[in-house]
Formats: sequence, C-alpha cells, structure tokens
Amino acid sequence: MLKKILSSQACAQCRLCCIFDRYEVWETPVFTPQLRDRISEASPDTKFVPKDSGFIFRVEKFGPDGLFTCPALTEKGCMLGDDKPFDCRIWPYRIMNVGGRRAITIASLCGELYSRPLSQLVEFLKEGLAETIFAYADAHPEIVKPYYEGYPVLLFEPQSSSDSK
Ligand code: SF4
Repeated sequence: MLKKILSSQACAQCRLCCIFDRYEVWETPVFTPQLRDRISEASPDTKFVPKDSGFIFRVEKFGPDGLFTCPALTEKGCMLGDDKPFDCRIWPYRIMNVGGRRAITIASLCGELYSRPLSQLVEFLKEGLAETIFAYADAHPEIVKPYYEGYPVLLFEPQSSSDSK
C-alpha cells in the first residue's frame, strides 16, 4: 500500500514495526478472525483478546531483551505476506482519535519515512491513501487508536457539511 514511497528492501532490513517494548504494546496490530487463526496455527501459544470485530495480542511476557516480537514475524519477514493486517500495511501512518475527531498521524520510529518532508507525507495521503484509511476505519473502528502524545498529526478527517452546521 505504501510501495510508492517505502521500498520493500528498506522494510526487510528494518522490521522495527514488528517488535514492541512495554510502552509500545498498544501499537500491536488488530487482526481479523482469519488472520488470528493463521497465527494460532503457526504459533499455538499466542494469546488474543477481542477488540470490537477484530483481535489483538494478549501480551503476557516479554523476552529477556524486554521486547515482544510479533509471532507472525519469521526469518523471511511477515508470514502473512500481502495479507498482513491493515494496520501493518499502512504503518508508519496511524489513524487516531484526536479530541473526538479522526486524524492520520505518523510514527517517528520509522526513520525511512519520518526523515521525509512532512509535506511529502501529507501529499501521499491526499493521493488516495487517506480516503482508503478512513473508509477502512468506518468498517473496522477497532483500528482507530486513542491519540498518543508525540505523534505528529498529518491530516484530519474532513468534516461533513452536516457536522459544520
Ligand atoms: S503481522 Fe506481520 S507486519 Fe504486522 S507486526 Fe506482525 S510480523 Fe509485522
């Protein structure tokens, strides 16, 4: 989904978005029931909890390095391939609730994109990605995260004419 601005080689060499410390657990992706089943089959010890119509990990312990690695991450990358969760397909873009209004933000952890001019990141959203993200969130509200301080807001959802009356 981000192939135009984020090369798959850059992602393959990084994988930071698949590894979480205890302060980033809220960032773990939301899985559909089908993807939850695929991960459970490959990694039966993985625990999930429901979140609206999806599922998130129940993270009970961290590795000796203090990190939780997504069970879908393999030596060759994400075992889900192009079926990976929507959250992962748009990362480092995030959709958050900012004071009661949905907005698209960006995670600074992704050095590859965060080093670009913000205008370029916003322009890419305006080329259609923002519309796709808001439409997906209409059907899957569980992907909208509460606003997390420090995430630059790139784009607010346009207010409908009925909202502004
Ligand atoms: S589902 Fe795949 S892309 Fe998403 S965090 Fe897990 S390993 Fe990474």
